[in-house]
Amino acid sequence: MKVLGQRQITGIFVVLLVLGPLVLPEFHVTLLNYIGLYALVALGLVLLTGVGGLTSFGQAAFVGLGAYTTAALTTATDLPVWLVPLANPWGGLVAGLLLTAGVALLLGLLTLRLSGHYLPLGTIAWGISLYFLFGNLQFLGGHTGISGIPTLSVAGVELRDGRHYYYLIWAVLLAAVWLTRNLLDSRTGRAIRALKGGVVMAEAMGVNTAHAKIVIFVIAALFAALSGWLYAHLQRFLNPTPFGLHIGIEYLFMAVIGGAAHVWGALVGAAMITILKQWLQDLLPQLFGASGNFEMIAFGLLMIFVLHRARDGLWPWLSSWVRAEKSALAGRPVADEALPRRAVLAVGTTLLEVKDVVKQFGGLVANDRMSLTVASGEILALIGPNGAGKSTLFNLITGVNPPTSGEVRFLGSCVAGRSARYIAQLGMSRTFQHVRLLPGMTVLENVALGAHMRGSKGVIAAALHLERDEESRLLAEAARQCERVGLGENLHEAAGSLPLGKQRIVEIARALAADPSLLLLDEPAAGLRFLEKQALAELLKQLRATGMSILLVEHDMEFVMDLADRVVVMEFGKKIAEGLPHDVQNDPVVIEAYLGGVD
Ligand code: ADP
Ligand code: MG
Repeated sequence: MKVLGQRQITGIFVVLLVLGPLVLPEFHVTLLNYIGLYALVALGLVLLTGVGGLTSFGQAAFVGLGAYTTAALTTATDLPVWLVPLANPWGGLVAGLLLTAGVALLLGLLTLRLSGHYLPLGTIAWGISLYFLFGNLQFLGGHTGISGIPTLSVAGVELRDGRHYYYLIWAVLLAAVWLTRNLLDSRTGRAIRALKGGVVMAEAMGVNTAHAKIVIFVIAALFAALSGWLYAHLQRFLNPTPFGLHIGIEYLFMAVIGGAAHVWGALVGAAMITILKQWLQDLLPQLFGASGNFEMIAFGLLMIFVLHRARDGLWPWLSSWVRAEKSALAGRPVADEALPRRAVLAVGTTLLEVKDVVKQFGGLVANDRMSLTVASGEILALIGPNGAGKSTLFNLITGVNPPTSGEVRFLGSCVAGRSARYIAQLGMSRTFQHVRLLPGMTVLENVALGAHMRGSKGVIAAALHLERDEESRLLAEAARQCERVGLGENLHEAAGSLPLGKQRIVEIARALAADPSLLLLDEPAAGLRFLEKQALAELLKQLRATGMSILLVEHDMEFVMDLADRVVVMEFGKKIAEGLPHDVQNDPVVIEAYLGGVD
């Protein structure tokens, strides 16, 4: 049934959009204008909430900020001289965007650090504050509002009615969709997509997640302000009502119902809610024989239904009817130039030095004065029974957790207690015992996240797709690492669809994409079959031959004995033995502790 492809559908959609106002009655054009304005705000929420996992109820306040700024500037009679250049709609746009960016930056710095339900509560708090600010400031007209806002002129053409505004609104919306899609399909975009459920992993890959959160928060606020600016000049009258908390909730409705993780979901959600609201507003009072906002009750029920039955919204369901374009799915990324690499260290120099490290979790001493060193070009295996404290030590070394006391030196720098991001940048990369991939993203994209630190292009370049050279180098590098570990056939599969053993291998490729000097692998062979284990051992030996150092936690004794240069054995948080594999294997203390005395 998938007759139409993405390109055809987009083509038809654009043609309908262009022809719409030429044939539709006034009323429908107005409705489409509102859908466009709402979709712009919902698009910001797709980025912020759907993709980034940060829930905001306060977007309506940013719409108000954009609308009121331009309204105040274009209607004021006695502005101070320095503001006069801004006393026109375009000046109002610039001022509104700057003001919104400033306010969003401030609110973001204050609230984005809040975790769990405190963040949505924070957005409710400032949503209400800004709303009352609009209503109580005399120069904004109080609750009566501001009237006489001028119309817009674009390139000398005055926009006199809804049909004229229609083209501007939809052009702005489509541009915003384009920018957002570009952004998500980039190095920065991968960092943003890691925010929902992958913060620890992303930081270990050198991603500044706090920065990524602020970025999407500001972008979402700017889209809202832009919508407000268009609204003010379309309506030519403002009062605080459309910027209240309940409208903020409605925007969130739109994003969730449309499909909060998909850019086109914003449009579907805005259209659906706007049309449904219009229809129910007419129908329900007739049905009940009384006037009232019955549609809000219907929306509440609809929301509950969606949350139960279609969490991902309508878009995934709609898009399942569309044939995907082949070119988007196939092919191996190539680049003219490879990414620069780290200098290889002389074999035998001490790379990592852990000294007397202690980690306490309450009363439990998970690491008790642990010490070890790793030299460059060496594979050190860390073994010990379950719960011995191996993963804990990994987390201390890589900066996921700070040690209670003790020293960790990496490449001469003291890194104990430093952030995972800082340590990653020095040249340490790791995998996790409990696989931390972004299951909905492809294998290639997951691995490319590992190369994050090797790129530098920012948000604006990404949104305009001016970073395609760098991006192709990053993706080519990711593809190279995938092939190196034997995932060349799986580049475009969703990482979550692979068997667990292979997911571990994806983690290794991701760590390798960072071009580390030291690679830390936490039980990489768990879940692998015999031949796969052999292939992994072969790979690790090859890596060692290139001068890479590896610290390896493993259960499979045989796997370790054949591979490691030296072995450190832990039990109950302490080191109980250290030495060459053969010696350690025959150490009675180790046999007693690790093998429970059985041969
Ligand atoms: P291993 O990797 O050697 O199997 P771990 O390092 O995962 O062992 O765990 C060592 C001990 O520390 C275990 O008793 C575990 O329950 C405890 N532990 C690990 N992480 C935490 C934590 N975040 N909070 C409390 N206890 C922890
Ligand atoms: Mg462990």
